[in-house]
Amino acid sequence: MDAMKEYNIEFVKLTLGDHKFEYHLTETFFKAFNSSLSSEDIQVDLLFHKSNTMFTLVFDLRGKLGLECDRCLSAIDLPVKGKHTVLVKITDYPMENEDDLIYLGSHEYKLNIAQHLYDFVCLSVPIKKTCEDVGKLCDPAMTSNITSMIDIENGDRLPDRDSDDEEEEE
Ligand SMILES: [Zn+2]
Repeated sequence: MDAMKEYNIEFVKLTLGDHKFEYHLTETFFKAFNSSLSSEDIQVDLLFHKSNTMFTLVFDLRGKLGLECDRCLSAIDLPVKGKHTVLVKITDYPMENEDDLIYLGSHEYKLNIAQHLYDFVCLSVPIKKTCEDVGKLCDPAMTSNITSMIDIENGDRLPDRDSDDEEEEE
């Protein structure tokens, strides 16, 4: 994924100590993940602390994510905000990565953080998101459509309330 190249950090070139990086997650970023999410801009500030055998990465995300309301399908801009810390350990015996812990072999020279950035954004999306989350009201035309569909379904069930028929079938 060439689009993800800009999320490579060539840590061998960094001096020991703190380094700052800034990223902007836009449409292109989410497309590269084939994601239904979209955003005009989510800004990510990364504080990268390098020591000899370990790096500490502190990600600070803020921006807005384009989503659809679960109830009325209106487009909503959901604010995204979050801080996440990831540790990177350099070792001769790398183990399986965990959510916030990455192992890199001592021959490695770069780290790609695109997947982590994507995961952080996904984590900030609530399971159920509606217009109310952004202080709006749902589109009444859409919600009344949904309500009348439910009414029709219930209406179909009403004639079933004839217990005499059931007894005769036994
Ligand atoms: Zn809505």
